[in-house]
Amino acid sequence: MSATKAGLAITNAADLFAAAYQIEADAVERYELLAGQMETFNNSELAAVFRDLARAETIHRDEIRRLAADEEIESRAKTVAKWEGDSPEQVDLAAMHYLMTPWQALQLALEGEKRALDFFQRIASSTSDPEIKKLADEFVAEEAEHVDLVYSLLRKYPKPGESWDYDPDPATPQG
Ligand code: ZN
Repeated sequence: MSATKAGLAITNAADLFAAAYQIEADAVERYELLAGQMETFNNSELAAVFRDLARAETIHRDEIRRLAADEEIESRAKTVAKWEGDSPEQVDLAAMHYLMTPWQALQLALEGEKRALDFFQRIASSTSDPEIKKLADEFVAEEAEHVDLVYSLLRKYPKPGESWDYDPDPATPQG
Protein backbone atom coordinates (compact mmCIF):
# COMPACT_ATOMS: atom_id res chain seq x y z
CA MET A 1 0.00 0.00 0.00
CA SER A 2 1.05 3.59 -0.44
CA ALA A 3 1.92 4.12 3.22
CA THR A 4 4.58 1.45 2.90
CA LYS A 5 6.64 3.52 0.49
CA ALA A 6 6.45 6.53 2.77
CA GLY A 7 7.46 4.39 5.72
CA LEU A 8 10.44 2.88 3.95
CA ALA A 9 11.64 6.31 2.88
CA ILE A 10 12.12 7.34 6.51
CA THR A 11 15.80 7.24 7.37
CA ASN A 12 16.17 9.27 10.57
CA ALA A 13 14.46 9.69 13.91
CA ALA A 14 13.17 13.22 13.21
CA ASP A 15 11.33 12.03 10.12
CA LEU A 16 9.95 9.04 11.97
CA PHE A 17 8.67 11.25 14.78
CA ALA A 18 7.11 13.56 12.21
CA ALA A 19 5.37 10.68 10.44
CA ALA A 20 4.17 9.28 13.77
CA TYR A 21 2.96 12.74 14.76
CA GLN A 22 0.92 13.02 11.58
CA ILE A 23 -0.50 9.53 12.02
CA GLU A 24 -1.67 10.37 15.53
CA ALA A 25 -3.03 13.77 14.51
CA ASP A 26 -5.05 12.05 11.78
CA ALA A 27 -6.27 9.47 14.28
CA VAL A 28 -7.56 12.24 16.56
CA GLU A 29 -9.50 13.71 13.66
CA ARG A 30 -10.83 10.30 12.65
CA TYR A 31 -12.11 9.44 16.13
CA GLU A 32 -13.73 12.83 16.56
CA LEU A 33 -15.54 12.35 13.26
CA LEU A 34 -16.65 8.86 14.25
CA ALA A 35 -17.80 10.10 17.66
CA GLY A 36 -19.85 12.77 15.93
CA GLN A 37 -21.40 10.14 13.67
CA MET A 38 -22.38 8.00 16.64
CA GLU A 39 -23.86 11.02 18.41
CA THR A 40 -25.90 11.75 15.29
CA PHE A 41 -27.34 8.25 15.51
CA ASN A 42 -27.88 8.46 19.25
CA ASN A 43 -25.32 5.85 20.16
CA SER A 44 -23.90 7.68 23.13
CA GLU A 45 -22.05 4.62 24.37
CA LEU A 46 -19.93 4.20 21.25
CA ALA A 47 -19.60 7.96 20.88
CA ALA A 48 -18.02 7.98 24.33
CA VAL A 49 -15.65 5.18 23.30
CA PHE A 50 -14.54 7.17 20.27
CA ARG A 51 -14.13 10.32 22.36
CA ASP A 52 -11.91 8.33 24.71
CA LEU A 53 -9.86 7.07 21.77
CA ALA A 54 -9.57 10.61 20.42
CA ARG A 55 -8.24 11.69 23.82
CA ALA A 56 -5.80 8.78 23.92
CA GLU A 57 -4.50 9.63 20.45
CA THR A 58 -4.24 13.30 21.43
CA ILE A 59 -2.07 12.34 24.40
CA HIS A 60 0.04 10.11 22.18
CA ARG A 61 0.37 12.86 19.56
CA ASP A 62 1.51 15.35 22.20
CA GLU A 63 3.96 12.81 23.66
CA ILE A 64 5.48 12.35 20.23
CA ARG A 65 5.82 16.11 19.89
CA ARG A 66 7.58 16.30 23.27
CA LEU A 67 9.89 13.37 22.52
CA ALA A 68 10.76 14.74 19.12
CA ALA A 69 11.77 18.12 20.60
CA ASP A 70 11.43 19.40 17.08
CA GLU A 71 9.89 22.81 16.56
CA GLU A 72 9.49 22.02 12.89
CA ILE A 73 7.58 18.82 13.46
CA GLU A 74 4.36 19.98 11.83
CA SER A 75 5.99 21.24 8.66
CA ARG A 76 8.31 18.21 8.67
CA ALA A 77 5.28 15.98 8.96
CA LYS A 78 3.81 17.52 5.85
CA THR A 79 7.03 16.84 3.97
CA VAL A 80 7.58 13.33 5.29
CA ALA A 81 4.03 12.11 5.37
CA LYS A 82 3.43 12.49 1.68
CA TRP A 83 1.37 9.43 1.17
CA GLU A 84 0.16 8.72 -2.31
CA GLY A 85 -3.34 8.44 -0.94
CA ASP A 86 -4.45 9.19 2.55
CA SER A 87 -2.34 9.11 5.64
CA PRO A 88 -2.29 5.67 7.28
CA GLU A 89 -4.70 6.57 10.06
CA GLN A 90 -6.91 8.93 8.14
CA VAL A 91 -10.51 7.89 8.01
CA ASP A 92 -12.06 7.14 4.67
CA LEU A 93 -14.02 10.37 4.43
CA ALA A 94 -16.00 9.11 1.48
CA ALA A 95 -17.48 6.46 3.73
CA MET A 96 -18.86 9.14 6.02
CA HIS A 97 -21.57 9.86 3.49
CA TYR A 98 -23.32 6.66 4.42
CA LEU A 99 -25.52 6.19 7.40
CA MET A 100 -23.21 4.43 9.71
CA THR A 101 -23.93 1.61 12.08
CA PRO A 102 -21.65 1.10 15.08
CA TRP A 103 -20.22 -1.91 13.30
CA GLN A 104 -19.35 0.14 10.25
CA ALA A 105 -17.84 2.94 12.33
CA LEU A 106 -15.70 0.31 14.04
CA GLN A 107 -14.62 -1.07 10.66
CA LEU A 108 -13.31 2.38 9.75
CA ALA A 109 -11.55 2.59 13.09
CA LEU A 110 -10.07 -0.86 12.54
CA GLU A 111 -8.82 -0.05 9.07
CA GLY A 112 -7.09 3.07 10.37
CA GLU A 113 -5.46 1.24 13.25
CA LYS A 114 -4.31 -1.62 11.01
CA ARG A 115 -2.78 0.76 8.50
CA ALA A 116 -0.92 2.53 11.30
CA LEU A 117 0.23 -0.79 12.74
CA ASP A 118 1.42 -1.94 9.33
CA PHE A 119 3.26 1.34 8.80
CA PHE A 120 5.23 1.04 12.03
CA GLN A 121 5.82 -2.70 11.62
CA ARG A 122 7.37 -2.17 8.22
CA ILE A 123 9.66 0.52 9.61
CA ALA A 124 10.61 -1.71 12.54
CA SER A 125 11.41 -4.65 10.28
CA SER A 126 13.26 -2.70 7.60
CA THR A 127 15.40 -0.18 9.46
CA SER A 128 19.04 -0.84 10.27
CA ASP A 129 19.13 2.01 12.81
CA PRO A 130 18.70 0.71 16.38
CA GLU A 131 17.23 4.01 17.59
CA ILE A 132 14.56 3.99 14.91
CA LYS A 133 13.93 0.30 15.53
CA LYS A 134 13.31 0.96 19.22
CA LEU A 135 10.93 3.84 18.52
CA ALA A 136 9.10 1.95 15.81
CA ASP A 137 8.68 -1.03 18.15
CA GLU A 138 7.06 1.24 20.74
CA PHE A 139 4.63 2.60 18.17
CA VAL A 140 3.89 -0.96 17.01
CA ALA A 141 2.97 -1.88 20.58
CA GLU A 142 0.67 1.15 20.92
CA GLU A 143 -1.10 0.50 17.64
CA ALA A 144 -1.43 -3.21 18.37
CA GLU A 145 -3.28 -2.24 21.56
CA HIS A 146 -5.61 -0.03 19.56
CA VAL A 147 -6.28 -2.82 17.06
CA ASP A 148 -7.09 -5.19 19.94
CA LEU A 149 -9.41 -2.64 21.51
CA VAL A 150 -11.36 -2.20 18.28
CA TYR A 151 -11.62 -5.98 17.90
CA SER A 152 -13.03 -6.24 21.41
CA LEU A 153 -15.57 -3.51 20.59
CA LEU A 154 -16.55 -5.40 17.44
CA ARG A 155 -17.49 -8.39 19.56
CA LYS A 156 -19.91 -6.07 21.32
CA TYR A 157 -21.24 -4.50 18.11
CA PRO A 158 -21.37 -7.34 15.59
CA LYS A 159 -22.07 -7.02 11.92
CA PRO A 160 -25.67 -6.09 11.14
CA GLY A 161 -27.87 -7.91 8.64
CA GLU A 162 -26.75 -9.41 5.37
CA SER A 163 -27.86 -6.33 3.45
CA TRP A 164 -24.57 -4.59 4.21
CA ASP A 165 -22.32 -5.10 1.24
CA TYR A 166 -19.37 -3.61 3.06
CA ASP A 167 -16.43 -6.00 3.13
CA PRO A 168 -13.76 -4.33 5.25
CA ASP A 169 -10.86 -6.70 5.54
CA PRO A 170 -11.43 -10.43 5.27
CA ALA A 171 -7.74 -11.26 5.01
CA THR A 172 -6.26 -10.66 8.44
CA PRO A 173 -7.32 -12.89 11.31
CA GLN A 174 -6.62 -11.61 14.78
CA GLY A 175 -3.33 -13.05 15.99
ZN1 ZN B 1 -3.93 4.14 16.90
